[in-house]
Amino acid sequence: MEVNNQPILRVEHLRKYFDAQRHVISRAKDQIKAVDDVSFTINRGSTFALVGESGCGKSTVARLLLRLITATDGKAFFNDEDLFAMSESEMRVMRRDIQMIFQDPYSSLNPRWQVRKIVAEPLDTHNIGTSAQRKEMVNDILRIVGLSEDSGNKYAHEFSGGQRQRIGIARALITNPQFIICDEPISALDVSIQAQIINLLRDLQQQYSLTYLFITHDLRIVKFLCDQTAVMYLGKLVETGSTREIFAKPTHPYTKALFSAIPIPDPYYEKQEEPIEGDVPSPLNPPSGCRFHTRCIYAKPICSEQEPPLTEIAPNHSCACHLLSEF
Ligand code: SF4
Repeated sequence: MEVNNQPILRVEHLRKYFDAQRHVISRAKDQIKAVDDVSFTINRGSTFALVGESGCGKSTVARLLLRLITATDGKAFFNDEDLFAMSESEMRVMRRDIQMIFQDPYSSLNPRWQVRKIVAEPLDTHNIGTSAQRKEMVNDILRIVGLSEDSGNKYAHEFSGGQRQRIGIARALITNPQFIICDEPISALDVSIQAQIINLLRDLQQQYSLTYLFITHDLRIVKFLCDQTAVMYLGKLVETGSTREIFAKPTHPYTKALFSAIPIPDPYYEKQEEPIEGDVPSPLNPPSGCRFHTRCIYAKPICSEQEPPLTEIAPNHSCACHLLSEF
């Protein structure tokens, strides 16, 4: 499918702070700034990658967009409709168009239900079709994701990991959504199966004009599948842009470090190492200024004093770093 420049999702200054109790006696509260002033736009028919290490806040963004948790601040517009201003019943209707594929296909599938019932559940929830039509729709979608009609009569434990993820994809697709959030959809699968699921997602996107928000820590997949990329660190976006541009010229020291960790299957390729120092700090009272300064090998005094703004450095490429002129 052709990607156009029409936004399907606009996220503006999204924040999610969780209260965390610090002092047993005073009961004073600290805040975990899981998502802090995150803005991005996803165009219809495209795949947008949200990339970062575990705990950086990318899955929290997904839960906010689905309204599984409430945003502290900010807005999200889906087809120009304000997701956070919708009533519960309006949001229920909207969820036909916004579906999710989960990381662990097994734990997201009810072990006591036959696959047919699992896949049909969104049809029941949204009251779509008669019972005969639902049966037909389930058979169709199982076939489309590469499973037989007979699969519908089995239980999740009777399938391999890859087949279970196909069931998860079938359930996400059954309402004919426009937008699918894929939260690490292949990280729990064997490497040999990952490519099959990625190819399936890509084929389905072309066939059904789908838009994906693809949450992952795996940059090899991003390069293959995603049009736009946003790199997230401790609740903040540190680099955004077209995937082609970011892979050609990764600029933020964190992005460079992530890229230098990608395995290259070429024994003669000399990789430029960009080490990261230390561990990811706690999002509870994160580092001042640039949140990456405690691990950045380039950090200067200004880095701990002032937060660098996300600045455009080329068309469709922005980076948040004080030392842009030096890279
Ligand atoms: Fe490193 Fe400073 Fe740039 Fe942050 S602002 S990434 S600490 S050089």
